[in-house]
Amino acid sequence: MSTQKTRQPSIQRLFLQLLNKNRLQHAYIFEGKGGTGKKEMAMWITQSLYCDQNEEGACQHCETCRRIAEHHHPDVLEIEPDGQSIKIAQVRALREEFTKSGMESRRKIVIVEDAEKMTNQAANSLLKFLEEPDGEITVFLLTTAKHRMLSTILSRSQLIHFPQLPKADRIQMLTDKGLSHEKAAILVHLTSDVNQAEELAAKDELIQLIQTVWKWYTFISKKDDQAFVYVHTDLMSLVKDKADQYIVLDLMLILLQDVLNSQVNDTYTFAFTAQQTELKKDAGRFRPLAIAKMMEVILTGKKQLDSNVAAQGIFEDCSLQLLSIVKEES
Ligand SMILES: [Zn+2]
Repeated sequence: MSTQKTRQPSIQRLFLQLLNKNRLQHAYIFEGKGGTGKKEMAMWITQSLYCDQNEEGACQHCETCRRIAEHHHPDVLEIEPDGQSIKIAQVRALREEFTKSGMESRRKIVIVEDAEKMTNQAANSLLKFLEEPDGEITVFLLTTAKHRMLSTILSRSQLIHFPQLPKADRIQMLTDKGLSHEKAAILVHLTSDVNQAEELAAKDELIQLIQTVWKWYTFISKKDDQAFVYVHTDLMSLVKDKADQYIVLDLMLILLQDVLNSQVNDTYTFAFTAQQTELKKDAGRFRPLAIAKMMEVILTGKKQLDSNVAAQGIFEDCSLQLLSIVKEES
């Protein structure tokens, strides 16, 4: 097989079989986290369907494959949200486009990104369109939030789940996009969604947040009472919003996970790669039970954030509790 490798080989094999047997359905929901290769798969299936070469899967090189990749193929249309939603006007425009290119010709493909953002009317219009007898259409509905999809859509589509990729692969994807390995390693621990990781990476204060939480952690691990004051003097001035507050606690949790995991697994891949020498030392100093207790403190802090307790109070309280746990260790 000379076709391109995708991020989801087993799903690719499934569709290769369906294509060979000419059994493509009208509607598929591709569901999974950002970066799991949903769009890539929809494009590959589309190219495979139209490719000029008579091989298994898309060749990626012929005129047709290239036109699809460059979004210039008259039988292939893509929609994405216009602002907060995908509106009925967009679905109508799509019908018009297809009418122009000739409904009676061969199969048409529609790729809908963030499909859970379709309004009711847009979704119903799309469904009607799929059921029209003149012309064959296949639609790929891509979503990270299946639970927000309308039941009418869910019941008429085949659901394909795109599983999460291993951490090492996600780090690779981020470094391929120009992120440092150090940043990428922390980000894939903060979120399992590669697109979200990229958004976080663009945050101006991210590096500062990472450094500040690291400092906060080192005060605690050294049993230094400054950890408490540091919340007020440094941490709070960096934290701009609720999202940042969660990032602070998540980073602390990831640090503790690093300590705990390096105790049980010699070949563990650290999130905080630049600090792993210090973290390994802490792994030797703290009992697993103490680290588990510390993680519990942070998790309780996150629950308090959920119920709108003020962040400064939570962070200060975490400092005191973590310090008292650490002070009982050797
Ligand atoms: Zn081709």
